Amino acid sequence: MPDNLTIVIPAYNESESLSLFFSEVLDHCKNKGYQLIIVNDGSSDNTLSILTDFKKNSDFDFTVLSHKVNRGYGGALKSGIAKSKTKYTITIDADGQHYLEDVDVLFEKIKETDADLIVGSRRGHSSASVYRSVGKSIIRMVAKILMKLSIYDINSGMKIYDTELVQKYLSLTPDTMSFSDIITLTFVNNRHLVIEEPIRIKERIKGLSTIGVRTAFETVMEIINIIILFNPARIFLPISAFFLVFGTIWGANFFFQGKGISIGASTLILTGLIIFLLGLIAEQLSAVRKNQ
Ligand code: UDP
Ligand code: MG
Repeated sequence: MPDNLTIVIPAYNESESLSLFFSEVLDHCKNKGYQLIIVNDGSSDNTLSILTDFKKNSDFDFTVLSHKVNRGYGGALKSGIAKSKTKYTITIDADGQHYLEDVDVLFEKIKETDADLIVGSRRGHSSASVYRSVGKSIIRMVAKILMKLSIYDINSGMKIYDTELVQKYLSLTPDTMSFSDIITLTFVNNRHLVIEEPIRIKERIKGLSTIGVRTAFETVMEIINIIILFNPARIFLPISAFFLVFGTIWGANFFFQGKGISIGASTLILTGLIIFLLGLIAEQLSAVRKNQ
């Protein structure tokens, strides 16, 4: 692979922001000699026609991929990253929230540090909504139980990767917004060098953020996904042990008072056993998915 950089941009209904900032992206790539892949993720506005117009009228050659139907942030990134042919790949959003100078900063940094993934960290930048930051901190908390995690902003949209590595892990990642968390945790969990570098963020110029409305349900699904994928025993074993110990103490208490077998205690012990067995299945699933 050439020792160069590909910028991957997922775009879903971004016609307004693209008309404002895409020519800047093209100029930047041309000046710096970067490759560019932009993925139209089944937009229902004229994102695709804007992109094809740009392609017709620009002397800079870039790749436009297009999904016929919307797949989600992760799905769009996966299509783009899979097509990258340079040693490094960086992802940025299509809404013009990222600074192109930060692309250069992260590119220099990854060559200098030989890291496998650098997260463009928005530390100090407050989340769009309270719900979102609550969801984020719960996800962080679960991740910290499962693995040693020193990365703060795991779901930043601006990340630079070693292309071969990230392509290897793409099949483990979901099509949804949680792509961002899962790919970072996969790198950390597999002991690749992941570091953080501060970046700046602009307010969204036009259009609407899609994950302001991320639901509690999606957050719970993501947490389950993370547990099953990374270290199920860390969650299942303590819960199962709690039920077994509690049930045994309760049951023994009744038994030695000569009151026979307690139904409550038996239920607790049974629950503990079932959770333990579920943990074993989850461990197997985790192993299967990791090796797929
Ligand atoms: N996006 C996408 N498919 C989707 C939803 C979003 O490709 O189904 C793109 C979107 O165009 C943007 C990026 O993913 O470039 C991040 O989305 P958004 O700005 O809505 O998320 P936020 O910045 O609010 O986290
Ligand atoms: Mg955005």
